Amino acid sequence: MPPVPSNPINVKLLLIGNSGVGKSSLLLRFSDEQWLPEDESSATIGVDFRVHKMEVNGKKVKLSIWDTAGQERFRTITSSYYRGAQGIILVYDVSNRESFDALPRWYTELETYVGDGVVKILVGNKVDKEYSRQVPTSEGSAFAAQMSSMFIEASAKTSVGVKETFTRVIERILEQGSAGITDHGRGGVPGGVQVVGLSDGNINQSGTCSC
Ligand code: GDP
Repeated sequence: MPPVPSNPINVKLLLIGNSGVGKSSLLLRFSDEQWLPEDESSATIGVDFRVHKMEVNGKKVKLSIWDTAGQERFRTITSSYYRGAQGIILVYDVSNRESFDALPRWYTELETYVGDGVVKILVGNKVDKEYSRQVPTSEGSAFAAQMSSMFIEASAKTSVGVKETFTRVIERILEQGSAGITDHGRGGVPGGVQVVGLSDGNINQSGTCSC
């Protein structure tokens, strides 16, 4: 008898951080191997979410990765955005001190909305802009350690560190064995890659679009 294919493990990841740090760009780079040149992308590209299937350490994983799609500009990220997340990718821009200084506020928000068991990685994006760096690597890494987060520097533009960011989060989630236990299937959506509108009105609690 042929082996029964195992069901993929559903994992829900969230991207958060100030507007303009490159959240949508990281997501596009990771899921589509795509980069929109700075002059072609608007201030925020505004991808809402992507579903991405991959294999990590021999396990099939169905990732749904959510992007704030610019909600953070209006400070209207709602608790429903955080619901059921197993991993958080918290992004700042190494060439923008303000985006780094805003991190304590993001961590406070995480304390309110997600449990301690959620895996977190702090990502210093835009390392290709080394010439205008405002946040040293050592400072980013020390802050991440203080906040019990993993740390990486990356560039959505050159791809450096992008795949590793996602892989490290998933590996840690799988190690903790939390995937699919707390949130069976909640993070997934049917079908392949999808982009939907992310307003409170058309997202139901299961993270799918009711439009
Ligand atoms: P978001 O608001 O956090 O989703 O940020 P976006 O992904 O929309 O990116 C904001 C701007 O930063 C856009 O002009 C991007 O082209 C640019 N950007 C994003 N990632 C990088 C990067 O790694 N390097 C450089 N140089 N620019 C980037």
